[in-house]
Amino acid sequence: MAFSEKPLDQSLVTPVEEFISREFDEAVNLLGEFVSIPGIAWPAFDPQNLELSAQRVAQEFENLDFFDWVDIRKSKKPDGQLGSPAILARRAGKPGVPHVLLYAHHDVQPPGDSELWETEPFVATRKGERLFGRGASDDKAGIVTHLWAIKGLKHLAEELNLGVTLFIEGEEEAGSESFANFLIDNEKDLAADLIIVADSGNWTEEVPALTTSLRGMVSQVVTIKTLDHAVHSGMFGGPLPDAMTAMIRLLDSLTDERGDVAISGLRSTKVDELPLSEEEFRQSAGILEGVQILGSKSLVQQNWGEPAVTVIGIDAPTVALSSNTAQPEITAKISLRLSPDENPATGLDLLRKHLESHAPFGARVSFGHSEQGPGYLAKSGWASKLAHEAFSACWPNPSVNIGIGGSIPFITDFARVFPQAEILVTGVEEPDSRAHSPNESQHLPTLKRAMAAETLLLLHGNQLLTNELN
Ligand SMILES: [Zn+2]
Repeated sequence: MAFSEKPLDQSLVTPVEEFISREFDEAVNLLGEFVSIPGIAWPAFDPQNLELSAQRVAQEFENLDFFDWVDIRKSKKPDGQLGSPAILARRAGKPGVPHVLLYAHHDVQPPGDSELWETEPFVATRKGERLFGRGASDDKAGIVTHLWAIKGLKHLAEELNLGVTLFIEGEEEAGSESFANFLIDNEKDLAADLIIVADSGNWTEEVPALTTSLRGMVSQVVTIKTLDHAVHSGMFGGPLPDAMTAMIRLLDSLTDERGDVAISGLRSTKVDELPLSEEEFRQSAGILEGVQILGSKSLVQQNWGEPAVTVIGIDAPTVALSSNTAQPEITAKISLRLSPDENPATGLDLLRKHLESHAPFGARVSFGHSEQGPGYLAKSGWASKLAHEAFSACWPNPSVNIGIGGSIPFITDFARVFPQAEILVTGVEEPDSRAHSPNESQHLPTLKRAMAAETLLLLHGNQLLTNELN
């Protein structure tokens, strides 16, 4: 549904900021309580903690006295086993008013090497402007953001019109295996005009962002064969087209001399240019001094909008077991990142065509296992305009659109099941949050701003009507 496009009511900003400021200590305390429950959806960890975590989160949303119902539900994974507990709650809105789905996840990454943590991972510890702990940012701060946005809506709206669904997943960090079934099992309860996914980041501590693109990916196992058996490299070497040399040449053909992907026909998507210095990129990627950066476009364009190819595995004799033998066949696995709007089936097809047509010496090429994951490119509609206005009102700088070089498959699941809905990928992280790493922390001023901005979004949405009714 399309909704009236009114600019953000700026008179809401001060009351919202005052409400969030008054409530903020309580929000940080609750975030600390959430951090103390180590709900991890990986098989090696006690699933009981996920049950406790789901109950604790559900209780907070029940206490709001806002939703028509609050449930804990599970769906089956593809292997038939039940997935982790998710919290689902829904409040029906008035006719013609937007229905908003708020998504976050309550499971967390394992703590990793405890030696590398400077605080206890599951004891929230405040140091300066940050709250340290596993999940403090990813994504328990996302849950707290949704909770206080609803509190703010209840407190500040003259009447409650907006429809709201809450969906707090319990296995995002373990690959969201039951997610696709959960969407099918609960399609009616999840249906919304706007989906807010609070699980991403901001450009910096001071610059808010909407995540508007994610690259897709495909992978392909490829085998190249030149001989029907292994032979002595001295007795035959010279005229002999061995499979290792053929594979090296084939893999080399995937990029050109500048490092750009040389597979013809692949798309590229123009992304918004943002300042990212070569030094910052080199440092975060750990590129050694003197080693060159590849590609002919800007760093953000290449990382978010262009295809990228990586050879991620080769089956070949190890150096320790090597002998003077020419190899008859070699297998490699190629990972190809795709521009956000590339169809993965097309990407895979173009990769295969390239491999077949570039095999040197007439070598035989055959394909093994492949994978496909779609990318994501946000539609820009009423909600993204509004989100930029709300972010810009709550941060010291205007908000920007950012991309992610990797993929978040569940976002494309949302887009597939709810094609009419606008999706906003927001978040409470910033470059120093260290999600998934030791010493994860939430930058508290960012959390406060995110809470205020989402409250503004809900309050504004609460006043909207569909264009059809205007
Ligand atoms: Zn997350």
